[in-house]
Amino acid sequence: MGLGKRLPEFITGSSANKFTVTAAAAFIALSLVLIATVCSPISYFPLKFALSGSTPPEQTCESREQRSSYLKHRTPELPPYLLSKLQAYERRHRRCGPLSESFNTTSPLGTHNDSAGGDCKFVVYTPSQGLGNRILGLTSTFLFALLTDRVLLVDFSADMGELFCEPFPNSTWLLPGNFPFKSEENVKKFKMRHFRDISQNSAPALLQIFLQDKYNEYDKLFFKDENQGFVERVPWLVLIHDGYFIPCLFQMQTFRSELEKLFPDQETVFHHLVKYLFSPSNQAWGQITGFYEAYLAKAEERIGFQIRVFEPKQTPFTAVMKQITSCTQKHRLILPQSDEVTLRNETSKSILVASLSRKYYEEIDWMYGRRRRQSTGIAVYQASHEGKQHSGDNSHNMKAWMDIYLLSTSDVLVTSSMSTFGYVAAGIAGVKPWIVMIPDPYHPRGADEPACERAINLEPCFHFPPWFAYPDPPGTGGLVGRCEDVSWGLKLVGGHKTRR
Ligand code: GDP
Repeated sequence: MGLGKRLPEFITGSSANKFTVTAAAAFIALSLVLIATVCSPISYFPLKFALSGSTPPEQTCESREQRSSYLKHRTPELPPYLLSKLQAYERRHRRCGPLSESFNTTSPLGTHNDSAGGDCKFVVYTPSQGLGNRILGLTSTFLFALLTDRVLLVDFSADMGELFCEPFPNSTWLLPGNFPFKSEENVKKFKMRHFRDISQNSAPALLQIFLQDKYNEYDKLFFKDENQGFVERVPWLVLIHDGYFIPCLFQMQTFRSELEKLFPDQETVFHHLVKYLFSPSNQAWGQITGFYEAYLAKAEERIGFQIRVFEPKQTPFTAVMKQITSCTQKHRLILPQSDEVTLRNETSKSILVASLSRKYYEEIDWMYGRRRRQSTGIAVYQASHEGKQHSGDNSHNMKAWMDIYLLSTSDVLVTSSMSTFGYVAAGIAGVKPWIVMIPDPYHPRGADEPACERAINLEPCFHFPPWFAYPDPPGTGGLVGRCEDVSWGLKLVGGHKTRR
């Protein structure tokens, strides 16, 4: 079909003018495409990506537009200073990020050229553990980038490829596939340095900092104020970690006053950042909303159980179930069957069980669903049961992301102690979870310990703070305290009192 034929009659006019008009229309259309190409920063993606051989980022993100009708709890407004800082960040990401002209001159891929974008500094996030841990690690790294005027890039492998929309408009956060630190050989070539190798005087071009649970005494120095001047001079930082280290940033003088300006309410730091950074990709969103509409949407109330058992072979199933039922009964999250009169007036409920194992779903379905379906409107569902954690598997991570997001549509959340998977679901939901203390052979629980505790806020726990980081002393207006579920962990507590 010719272009002229598609134009309305008043433009095309008589057949004698057909050729002229068709040519004119083609010219107009071509001009529009050219104008769009020049004006829109998105328009050069195809060429750029065709050259690099990678896929262009998604141009639309359905979940970002639609999620407010699925997440029932309204997110508080972004504090104005945080909003302006995020906008400035997005501009920086566009100016310095992998799609910008300056990237090849500032990155170790090309020659370092101070005049062309030499003020761009980067922090590369390299994940290693499960999805919940990764989301916490990435969120912490992003806040560090925001505080230090760096650009965040992620070194995802294929198993994370299709989970999220690009968070930063008209750019990408993905480290290019051919980037030098992607192979051991290149790491040596580019003289990647570690914290322990450095002297305070010479700042290397690349510094790798390993902040995993077994990190060494040198890497812990990352959390010392006196080293920040040095870190600041390193153009390329590579952080390998999976923890929510934000409580430690709040304890550093270097960042404290800026953080208090950014987050006047220190108990919604994670909630704001996780919702800003992580939107399900269109593919993930299709699966999430498909399940939600089919099973969860009908009920008046949604209850999410997230059951994570770290040592399933050594943790009796009955002991875990006992903790869960004691918690739900004590706090009347689901009324016991004996409460017949009240039950008749109950709202209809759907219960989602997120767990690697099917056994917990079957038991909860038996207790609350099948046995009582005649008298009450309770139905129990499970979206997947993967058996065990797999690494390097995109479809497994997709199911995990689906479970996290489905949990976050809950009105009531019951999560598991020490599980970052549960922290993330609660953070996205904006719902303070009931944290069940799951028995664990390595961390036995006292007989008098409650089966669960209501989280004081939406902040995750940092499980492995450095030895020199303590909770702020009581009565000093300190913002950092102990976690509900991990006695040695640290979390942002605002004005709340916690165990010290
Ligand atoms: P954590 O180990 O509980 O702190 O959570 P992580 O998300 O860091 O790691 C656990 C991994 O095991 C997840 O990323 C999933 O791959 C898998 N997993 C654990 N629990 C579930 C679950 O309820 N549903 C699904 N689909 N996967 C799970």
